[in-house]
Amino acid sequence: MKKGIIAFVAIIIVAIVTLYFFPQILYTTSFGQRILMKMEGDQVAEFYFKENQTTKDTLYMNGVIYSNTLYDIKEILFENPEVTTLVMEEVPGSIDDEINLLASREIRKHHINTYIPKNGMVASGGTDMFLAGEKRNIHVTAKLGVHSWSGEDSVALDFPKDHEEHKKYLNYYTEMNIPTAFYWYTLEAAPADSIHWMTANEIKKYDVVTDSGIETTELLDIQRQISSDQYLGRGTGNNQKAQDFIRSYFKDIGLEKLDADYDSHFTFKDRKTKKERTGTNFIGYVKGKTYPKKYIVIGAHYDHLGVINDTIYNGADDNASGTSALLILAKYFSKNQPQHSILFAAFDAEELGLFGSKHFVDNPPVLLSDIKLNINMDMISRNPKNEIYVVGTYPYPQFKPIIESIAKDGPLTVSYGHDDPEDKTKDYWMFSSDNGPFFRKGIPNITFSEEDHPGYHQASDDVEEIHPEYYKNVAKLIQKSIEAIDQNFPNSKQ
Ligand SMILES: [Zn+2]
Repeated sequence: MKKGIIAFVAIIIVAIVTLYFFPQILYTTSFGQRILMKMEGDQVAEFYFKENQTTKDTLYMNGVIYSNTLYDIKEILFENPEVTTLVMEEVPGSIDDEINLLASREIRKHHINTYIPKNGMVASGGTDMFLAGEKRNIHVTAKLGVHSWSGEDSVALDFPKDHEEHKKYLNYYTEMNIPTAFYWYTLEAAPADSIHWMTANEIKKYDVVTDSGIETTELLDIQRQISSDQYLGRGTGNNQKAQDFIRSYFKDIGLEKLDADYDSHFTFKDRKTKKERTGTNFIGYVKGKTYPKKYIVIGAHYDHLGVINDTIYNGADDNASGTSALLILAKYFSKNQPQHSILFAAFDAEELGLFGSKHFVDNPPVLLSDIKLNINMDMISRNPKNEIYVVGTYPYPQFKPIIESIAKDGPLTVSYGHDDPEDKTKDYWMFSSDNGPFFRKGIPNITFSEEDHPGYHQASDDVEEIHPEYYKNVAKLIQKSIEAIDQNFPNSKQ
């Protein structure tokens, strides 16, 4: 009898110890053979700290996300509030998507960053969890996999786009600030029983890693700064503070010069006073990797109306918004070398008659025939309808499909127009901003601008009135459009 009891107790202890150290046995029995075969050789997710860690700010993770993962992550973050980064070493998927999305939300709630280390591998549901990182980065040797999902006897693409099954994921990605286009892309990338490893371009395109794009916080900061009262409304002739800002920004990011300096001075005749005045453009560039002698010119005017009858016209939208985007894009491309050279031009005296851009095309720092495209940004931060106009695809239709593919499923209403002289329903904008002088010279050009608002050329064009999320999304759209055009420059049909 005694021996029997001892044996029984021993078996119980062995069972408890085994389950404690190898919980995947429990998961095997509770979820059955089908899942085990699918995830053959995988452990259930474990969170741990490395032995040699001096601080517990970095948490490591390995294994398949499963029913206990929500509990585990809550517990470990509760006990270790100092955790700032989750390193996902090998997380091939999840066997419980509901739990996965809840566990992932915990990660975002605690502002944890995610990282996939050297030779790391994260896929499927693991990729969803990775996207919960507030800041996200991937080692160049690491792999990130995506695929579609399937149910009992249907696959994701069988469901209509507005179906509830999609919403679970779409809501999650929206919460994580990932473009919903990413979700539709995963459904087509590979079927549920296969995997697609994301390319570097795809990782960039869908904001998968956070430093892949422009710095949107800085975008808002610069706009706020240069549209503050101390900048005196940046009126031509009285905008030295803005000039100092642009010049030192160009210098700090290491933009190359075409001349001795970024400053390009010019004179013009004031239309009202008939007097000669001076203006200053700022020109810098990033050399292209493949076509260093071909140029894309990105431009925005930095001048505004200045001070009129003791009132400062700050021009937050017109055009501190385009100027800040110009600077942020210059910074971005100086870190991410483009295929074509990109020339960045901050134009002066636009408000007085496009004089800065006229001077540029009349005295071009490079051959006009080497300028393949001008991108102009003028008023891109204020629109209650969340709508941005892309102007210039009527005369230059070759750019439209590229921009459409970037805009598809994105957060903005992207409209095309104001570029057909026969369309009497809309103002013709091809000569309304700094794109005009380029257009006159026959250089392809695309302008990003919203339609006029009550603050247009009023003292109420202040930074408090802009729409920050809209502005950030427009700037991202412009960045991605330029990048796509630069990488695969379309031929003109003419
Ligand atoms: Zn303007």
